[in-house]
Amino acid sequence: MSKRDYYEVLGVGRDATEEEIKKAYRRLARQYHPDVNKEPDAEAKFKEVKEAYEVLSDGQKRAAYDQFGHAATDGSMGGAGGFGGFGGFGDMGGFGDIFDMFFGGGARRNPNAPKRGADLQYHLTIEFRDAVFGMETDITIPRTENCEPCGGTGAKPGTKPEACSVCRGTGQQEIVQNTPFGRIVNRRICSACGGSGRVIRDRCVECRGTGKVKTQRKIHVKIPAGVDDGAQLRISGEGEAGTNGGPPGDLYVVLAVKPHEFFEREGDDLYCEIPLTFAQAALGDEIEVPTLTEKVKLKIPPGTQTHTYFRLKGRGVPRLRGYGQGDQHVKVVVVTPTKLSDEQKRLLREFAALGGESGGGYEDTLFARMKRAFRGE
Ligand SMILES: [Zn+2]
Ligand SMILES: [Zn+2]
Repeated sequence: MSKRDYYEVLGVGRDATEEEIKKAYRRLARQYHPDVNKEPDAEAKFKEVKEAYEVLSDGQKRAAYDQFGHAATDGSMGGAGGFGGFGGFGDMGGFGDIFDMFFGGGARRNPNAPKRGADLQYHLTIEFRDAVFGMETDITIPRTENCEPCGGTGAKPGTKPEACSVCRGTGQQEIVQNTPFGRIVNRRICSACGGSGRVIRDRCVECRGTGKVKTQRKIHVKIPAGVDDGAQLRISGEGEAGTNGGPPGDLYVVLAVKPHEFFEREGDDLYCEIPLTFAQAALGDEIEVPTLTEKVKLKIPPGTQTHTYFRLKGRGVPRLRGYGQGDQHVKVVVVTPTKLSDEQKRLLREFAALGGESGGGYEDTLFARMKRAFRGE
Protein backbone atom coordinates (compact mmCIF):
# COMPACT_ATOMS: atom_id res chain seq x y z
CA MET A 1 0.00 0.00 0.00
CA SER A 2 1.66 3.18 -1.10
CA LYS A 3 1.12 6.22 1.02
CA ARG A 4 0.40 9.57 -0.46
CA ASP A 5 2.84 12.35 0.00
CA TYR A 6 1.83 14.52 2.98
CA TYR A 7 2.22 17.75 1.02
CA GLU A 8 0.01 16.32 -1.65
CA VAL A 9 -2.56 15.30 0.93
CA LEU A 10 -2.75 18.85 2.25
CA GLY A 11 -2.49 20.30 -1.22
CA VAL A 12 0.40 22.58 -0.41
CA GLY A 13 3.87 23.06 -1.84
CA ARG A 14 6.98 21.68 -0.18
CA ASP A 15 7.94 25.20 0.76
CA ALA A 16 4.60 25.97 2.39
CA THR A 17 4.71 28.09 5.52
CA GLU A 18 3.32 26.93 8.84
CA GLU A 19 0.40 29.25 8.32
CA GLU A 20 -0.37 27.81 4.89
CA ILE A 21 -0.23 24.29 6.25
CA LYS A 22 -2.55 25.16 9.11
CA LYS A 23 -5.04 26.77 6.75
CA ALA A 24 -5.00 23.84 4.35
CA TYR A 25 -5.51 21.44 7.23
CA ARG A 26 -8.45 23.33 8.69
CA ARG A 27 -10.12 23.46 5.34
CA LEU A 28 -9.65 19.79 4.59
CA ALA A 29 -10.50 18.71 8.14
CA ARG A 30 -13.84 20.48 7.88
CA GLN A 31 -14.40 18.98 4.45
CA TYR A 32 -13.76 15.36 5.50
CA HIS A 33 -14.81 15.37 9.11
CA PRO A 34 -16.91 12.20 9.58
CA ASP A 35 -19.57 14.13 11.45
CA VAL A 36 -20.11 16.33 8.41
CA ASN A 37 -19.11 14.22 5.44
CA LYS A 38 -21.05 11.01 4.91
CA GLU A 39 -19.13 9.76 1.90
CA PRO A 40 -17.78 6.23 2.41
CA ASP A 41 -14.11 7.21 2.19
CA ALA A 42 -14.44 10.40 4.18
CA GLU A 43 -13.15 8.92 7.42
CA ALA A 44 -10.05 7.50 5.77
CA LYS A 45 -9.39 10.79 4.09
CA PHE A 46 -9.88 12.67 7.35
CA LYS A 47 -7.32 10.42 9.03
CA GLU A 48 -4.91 10.92 6.19
CA VAL A 49 -5.22 14.69 6.45
CA LYS A 50 -4.82 14.59 10.21
CA GLU A 51 -1.69 12.47 9.96
CA ALA A 52 -0.17 14.71 7.31
CA TYR A 53 -0.86 17.74 9.43
CA GLU A 54 0.63 16.15 12.56
CA VAL A 55 3.88 15.67 10.74
CA LEU A 56 4.10 18.83 8.71
CA SER A 57 3.02 21.11 11.54
CA ASP A 58 5.90 19.93 13.71
CA GLY A 59 9.22 21.42 12.67
CA GLN A 60 11.33 18.42 13.65
CA LYS A 61 9.00 15.82 12.23
CA ARG A 62 8.66 17.80 9.05
CA ALA A 63 12.43 17.99 8.68
CA ALA A 64 12.70 14.25 9.15
CA TYR A 65 9.90 13.67 6.67
CA ASP A 66 11.58 15.93 4.15
CA GLN A 67 14.76 13.92 4.49
CA PHE A 68 13.49 10.37 4.80
CA GLY A 69 9.93 10.46 3.54
CA HIS A 70 7.47 8.02 5.07
CA ALA A 71 10.38 5.90 6.33
CA ALA A 72 10.81 8.46 9.08
CA THR A 73 7.39 7.65 10.44
CA ASP A 74 6.44 4.11 9.51
CA GLY A 75 8.99 2.33 11.64
CA SER A 76 11.04 0.83 8.85
CA MET A 77 14.01 2.78 10.12
CA GLY A 78 13.77 1.80 13.71
CA GLY A 79 12.21 -1.58 13.69
CA ALA A 80 9.32 -1.90 16.02
CA GLY A 81 6.76 0.75 15.28
CA GLY A 82 5.14 -0.17 12.06
CA PHE A 83 2.39 2.06 10.87
CA GLY A 84 0.90 4.29 13.44
CA GLY A 85 2.92 7.42 13.47
CA PHE A 86 5.32 8.49 16.07
CA GLY A 87 6.28 7.00 19.35
CA GLY A 88 6.20 3.58 17.74
CA PHE A 89 9.82 2.76 18.19
CA GLY A 90 12.02 3.22 21.10
CA ASP A 91 11.00 1.40 24.21
CA MET A 92 11.12 -2.34 23.49
CA GLY A 93 11.99 -2.03 19.84
CA GLY A 94 14.97 -1.17 17.72
CA PHE A 95 17.08 0.69 20.19
CA GLY A 96 16.67 -1.91 22.85
CA ASP A 97 18.04 -4.49 20.43
CA ILE A 98 21.04 -2.35 19.67
CA PHE A 99 21.60 -2.01 23.37
CA ASP A 100 21.54 -5.77 23.73
CA MET A 101 24.04 -6.12 20.93
CA PHE A 102 26.53 -3.96 22.74
CA PHE A 103 26.03 -5.31 26.18
CA GLY A 104 25.48 -8.95 25.45
CA GLY A 105 21.85 -8.85 26.43
CA GLY A 106 22.81 -9.00 30.05
CA ALA A 107 21.86 -5.45 30.81
CA ARG A 108 18.21 -6.20 31.26
CA ARG A 109 18.85 -8.96 33.71
CA ASN A 110 18.99 -8.25 37.35
CA PRO A 111 22.46 -6.82 37.92
CA ASN A 112 22.49 -8.37 41.36
CA ALA A 113 21.75 -11.91 40.21
CA PRO A 114 24.32 -14.49 41.36
CA LYS A 115 26.99 -15.13 38.78
CA ARG A 116 29.35 -18.08 38.68
CA GLY A 117 33.07 -17.35 38.88
CA ALA A 118 35.40 -17.95 35.96
CA ASP A 119 37.29 -21.22 35.50
CA LEU A 120 41.04 -21.17 35.90
CA GLN A 121 43.74 -23.19 34.23
CA TYR A 122 47.07 -24.16 35.71
CA HIS A 123 49.87 -25.94 33.88
CA LEU A 124 51.80 -28.42 35.95
CA THR A 125 54.84 -30.39 34.80
CA ILE A 126 55.43 -33.68 36.62
CA GLU A 127 58.02 -36.44 36.54
CA PHE A 128 57.45 -39.58 34.50
CA ARG A 129 57.24 -41.76 37.60
CA ASP A 130 54.80 -39.41 39.32
CA ALA A 131 52.45 -39.77 36.38
CA VAL A 132 52.69 -43.55 36.61
CA PHE A 133 52.30 -43.89 40.35
CA GLY A 134 50.34 -40.75 41.15
CA MET A 135 51.33 -38.08 43.62
CA GLU A 136 50.09 -35.32 45.84
CA THR A 137 51.44 -31.83 45.66
CA ASP A 138 50.66 -28.24 46.52
CA ILE A 139 50.35 -25.64 43.83
CA THR A 140 50.01 -21.92 44.29
CA ILE A 141 47.59 -20.20 41.99
CA PRO A 142 46.81 -16.52 41.64
CA ARG A 143 43.09 -16.00 41.84
CA THR A 144 40.37 -13.59 42.82
CA GLU A 145 38.47 -14.36 45.98
CA ASN A 146 35.65 -12.74 47.83
CA CYS A 147 36.95 -10.27 50.37
CA GLU A 148 36.60 -11.82 53.79
CA PRO A 149 36.04 -8.79 56.06
CA CYS A 150 33.09 -7.55 54.01
CA GLY A 151 31.89 -10.94 52.78
CA GLY A 152 32.30 -9.86 49.17
CA THR A 153 29.85 -6.97 49.37
CA GLY A 154 32.49 -4.24 49.22
CA ALA A 155 30.77 -2.38 52.05
CA LYS A 156 32.54 -1.63 55.30
CA PRO A 157 31.92 -4.49 57.72
CA GLY A 158 28.71 -3.79 59.59
CA THR A 159 27.21 -1.84 56.69
CA LYS A 160 25.47 -2.94 53.53
CA PRO A 161 25.40 -1.67 49.96
CA GLU A 162 22.26 0.32 49.26
CA ALA A 163 20.09 0.32 46.19
CA CYS A 164 21.17 3.03 43.77
CA SER A 165 18.74 5.92 43.96
CA VAL A 166 19.39 7.04 40.40
CA CYS A 167 18.32 3.78 38.74
CA ARG A 168 16.34 2.41 41.69
CA GLY A 169 18.53 -0.66 41.76
CA THR A 170 18.01 -1.70 38.16
CA GLY A 171 21.50 -0.72 37.04
CA GLN A 172 20.03 1.02 34.00
CA GLN A 173 19.09 4.54 33.20
CA GLU A 174 16.39 5.29 30.72
CA ILE A 175 17.13 8.34 28.68
CA VAL A 176 14.05 9.64 26.93
CA GLN A 177 14.70 11.75 23.90
CA ASN A 178 12.19 13.49 21.72
CA THR A 179 13.60 13.26 18.24
CA PRO A 180 12.28 13.76 14.73
CA PHE A 181 11.53 10.03 14.75
CA GLY A 182 9.48 10.26 17.86
CA ARG A 183 10.11 9.46 21.45
CA ILE A 184 13.17 7.25 21.84
CA VAL A 185 13.82 5.50 25.08
CA ASN A 186 17.48 4.67 25.28
CA ARG A 187 18.81 2.45 28.02
CA ARG A 188 22.24 3.02 29.37
CA ILE A 189 24.24 1.55 32.13
CA CYS A 190 23.56 3.68 35.16
CA SER A 191 26.41 6.13 35.51
CA ALA A 192 25.84 6.52 39.23
CA CYS A 193 26.36 2.86 40.12
CA GLY A 194 28.12 1.53 37.02
CA GLY A 195 25.30 -0.92 36.36
CA SER A 196 25.47 -2.78 39.63
CA GLY A 197 22.29 -1.16 40.93
CA ARG A 198 23.98 -0.63 44.25
CA VAL A 199 25.99 2.07 45.88
CA ILE A 200 28.35 1.65 48.77
CA ARG A 201 28.43 4.54 51.24
CA ASP A 202 31.28 3.24 53.38
CA ARG A 203 33.74 1.17 51.46
CA CYS A 204 35.51 -1.83 52.88
CA VAL A 205 39.12 -0.88 53.40
CA GLU A 206 40.44 -4.31 52.52
CA CYS A 207 39.04 -4.48 48.98
CA ARG A 208 38.41 -0.78 48.43
CA GLY A 209 34.77 -1.49 47.77
CA THR A 210 35.21 -4.10 45.06
CA GLY A 211 34.30 -7.04 47.25
CA LYS A 212 37.15 -9.00 45.68
CA VAL A 213 40.78 -9.50 46.55
CA LYS A 214 43.61 -11.01 44.52
CA THR A 215 45.39 -13.75 46.37
CA GLN A 216 47.96 -16.46 45.90
CA ARG A 217 46.08 -19.52 47.02
CA LYS A 218 47.81 -22.76 47.86
CA ILE A 219 45.83 -25.73 46.62
CA HIS A 220 46.47 -29.37 47.38
CA VAL A 221 46.36 -31.47 44.23
CA LYS A 222 46.01 -35.26 44.12
CA ILE A 223 47.26 -36.71 40.88
CA PRO A 224 45.93 -40.21 40.31
CA ALA A 225 48.21 -43.03 39.20
CA GLY A 226 48.26 -43.58 35.47
CA VAL A 227 47.71 -40.04 34.22
CA ASP A 228 49.32 -39.20 30.93
CA ASP A 229 50.75 -36.16 29.25
CA GLY A 230 48.02 -33.61 28.48
CA ALA A 231 45.63 -34.96 31.12
CA GLN A 232 43.38 -32.39 32.72
CA LEU A 233 42.27 -32.57 36.33
CA ARG A 234 39.20 -30.62 37.34
CA ILE A 235 39.25 -29.35 40.88
CA SER A 236 35.71 -28.31 41.55
CA GLY A 237 35.09 -24.90 43.08
CA GLU A 238 38.71 -23.76 43.13
CA GLY A 239 38.40 -21.22 40.31
CA GLU A 240 37.59 -17.54 40.62
CA ALA A 241 35.03 -16.46 43.19
CA GLY A 242 31.46 -15.94 42.02
CA THR A 243 29.63 -12.63 42.20
CA ASN A 244 26.59 -11.81 44.27
CA GLY A 245 26.75 -15.12 46.06
CA GLY A 246 27.20 -17.13 42.85
CA PRO A 247 29.31 -20.31 42.99
CA PRO A 248 33.03 -20.21 42.24
CA GLY A 249 34.41 -21.52 38.98
CA ASP A 250 36.52 -24.65 38.66
CA LEU A 251 40.27 -25.06 38.50
CA TYR A 252 41.70 -27.14 35.68
CA VAL A 253 45.19 -28.52 36.20
CA VAL A 254 46.71 -29.44 32.86
CA LEU A 255 49.53 -31.95 33.19
CA ALA A 256 52.72 -32.14 31.20
CA VAL A 257 54.71 -35.32 31.86
CA LYS A 258 58.48 -35.21 31.48
CA PRO A 259 59.93 -37.91 29.25
CA HIS A 260 62.00 -40.72 30.76
CA GLU A 261 65.43 -41.55 29.42
CA PHE A 262 64.89 -45.30 29.47
CA PHE A 263 61.16 -45.91 29.35
CA GLU A 264 58.81 -44.78 26.67
CA ARG A 265 55.12 -44.80 27.26
CA GLU A 266 52.26 -45.55 24.92
CA GLY A 267 48.97 -45.54 26.75
CA ASP A 268 49.29 -48.02 29.58
CA ASP A 269 52.22 -49.87 28.00
CA LEU A 270 55.89 -49.17 28.47
CA TYR A 271 58.63 -49.72 25.93
CA CYS A 272 62.36 -50.08 26.50
CA GLU A 273 65.45 -51.32 24.71
CA ILE A 274 67.98 -53.72 26.23
CA PRO A 275 71.42 -54.27 24.69
CA LEU A 276 72.57 -57.84 24.07
CA THR A 277 76.01 -58.99 23.09
CA PHE A 278 76.37 -61.15 20.03
CA ALA A 279 77.30 -64.08 22.24
CA GLN A 280 74.23 -63.62 24.49
CA ALA A 281 71.97 -63.42 21.46
CA ALA A 282 73.55 -66.46 19.84
CA LEU A 283 73.93 -68.66 22.88
CA GLY A 284 70.98 -67.47 24.94
CA ASP A 285 71.12 -66.05 28.43
CA GLU A 286 69.10 -64.96 31.41
CA ILE A 287 69.31 -61.19 31.79
CA GLU A 288 68.01 -58.62 34.22
CA VAL A 289 65.63 -55.96 33.00
CA PRO A 290 64.72 -52.82 34.94
CA THR A 291 61.01 -52.17 35.36
CA LEU A 292 59.46 -49.18 37.09
CA THR A 293 59.39 -50.99 40.41
CA GLU A 294 62.13 -53.62 40.44
CA LYS A 295 64.57 -55.70 38.45
CA VAL A 296 63.06 -58.74 36.75
CA LYS A 297 64.71 -61.68 35.05
CA LEU A 298 64.17 -62.28 31.35
CA LYS A 299 65.17 -65.46 29.50
CA ILE A 300 66.81 -64.83 26.15
CA PRO A 301 66.54 -67.98 24.03
CA PRO A 302 69.55 -69.03 21.93
CA GLY A 303 69.54 -67.54 18.45
CA THR A 304 67.61 -64.41 19.33
CA GLN A 305 67.65 -61.82 16.56
CA THR A 306 68.20 -58.16 17.16
CA HIS A 307 65.00 -56.06 17.58
CA THR A 308 63.03 -58.97 18.94
CA TYR A 309 60.37 -57.94 21.43
CA PHE A 310 59.70 -59.66 24.73
CA ARG A 311 56.68 -58.86 26.83
CA LEU A 312 56.70 -58.46 30.60
CA LYS A 313 53.06 -58.81 31.48
CA GLY A 314 51.60 -56.36 34.00
CA ARG A 315 54.79 -54.32 34.27
CA GLY A 316 53.33 -51.28 32.58
CA VAL A 317 51.35 -48.32 33.83
CA PRO A 318 48.32 -48.68 36.14
CA ARG A 319 45.14 -48.13 34.21
CA LEU A 320 43.61 -44.78 35.12
CA ARG A 321 40.15 -46.15 34.46
CA GLY A 322 39.63 -49.74 35.38
CA TYR A 323 41.86 -52.28 37.01
CA GLY A 324 45.26 -53.73 36.34
CA GLN A 325 48.25 -52.48 34.52
CA GLY A 326 49.65 -52.38 31.03
CA ASP A 327 52.69 -54.40 29.91
CA GLN A 328 56.33 -53.63 29.46
CA HIS A 329 57.72 -54.42 26.03
CA VAL A 330 61.41 -55.16 25.89
CA LYS A 331 63.20 -54.80 22.58
CA VAL A 332 66.59 -56.48 22.50
CA VAL A 333 69.27 -54.79 20.44
CA VAL A 334 72.30 -56.87 19.49
CA VAL A 335 75.32 -54.67 19.82
CA THR A 336 78.25 -55.21 17.49
CA PRO A 337 81.59 -55.05 19.34
CA THR A 338 83.83 -52.19 18.28
CA LYS A 339 86.95 -52.92 20.30
CA LEU A 340 88.30 -56.42 19.87
CA SER A 341 91.56 -57.88 21.13
CA ASP A 342 93.82 -59.74 18.71
CA GLU A 343 92.76 -63.00 20.29
CA GLN A 344 89.06 -62.16 19.88
CA LYS A 345 89.65 -61.20 16.24
CA ARG A 346 91.46 -64.47 15.61
CA LEU A 347 88.60 -66.46 17.12
CA LEU A 348 85.97 -64.58 15.15
CA ARG A 349 87.86 -65.20 11.89
CA GLU A 350 87.99 -68.88 12.81
CA PHE A 351 84.25 -68.74 13.59
CA ALA A 352 83.54 -67.16 10.21
CA ALA A 353 85.71 -69.72 8.42
CA LEU A 354 83.55 -72.42 10.00
CA GLY A 355 80.52 -70.87 8.33
CA GLY A 356 79.39 -69.29 11.55
CA GLU A 357 77.33 -66.52 9.94
CA SER A 358 74.76 -69.06 9.01
CA GLY A 359 72.55 -69.75 11.96
CA GLY A 360 69.96 -71.89 10.27
CA GLY A 361 66.98 -69.60 10.87
CA TYR A 362 65.76 -66.20 9.85
CA GLU A 363 69.24 -65.15 8.82
CA ASP A 364 69.37 -67.87 6.21
CA THR A 365 66.34 -66.53 4.48
CA LEU A 366 67.73 -63.02 4.66
CA PHE A 367 71.12 -64.07 3.26
CA ALA A 368 69.41 -66.07 0.58
CA ARG A 369 67.26 -63.11 -0.43
CA MET A 370 70.34 -60.87 -0.62
CA LYS A 371 72.21 -63.36 -2.75
CA ARG A 372 69.26 -63.56 -5.13
CA ALA A 373 69.24 -59.73 -5.33
CA PHE A 374 72.94 -59.75 -6.23
CA ARG A 375 72.14 -62.13 -9.06
CA GLY A 376 69.58 -59.63 -10.30
CA GLU A 377 66.58 -61.76 -9.44
ZN1 LIG B 1 22.36 3.08 39.51
ZN1 LIG C 1 36.02 -6.06 51.39
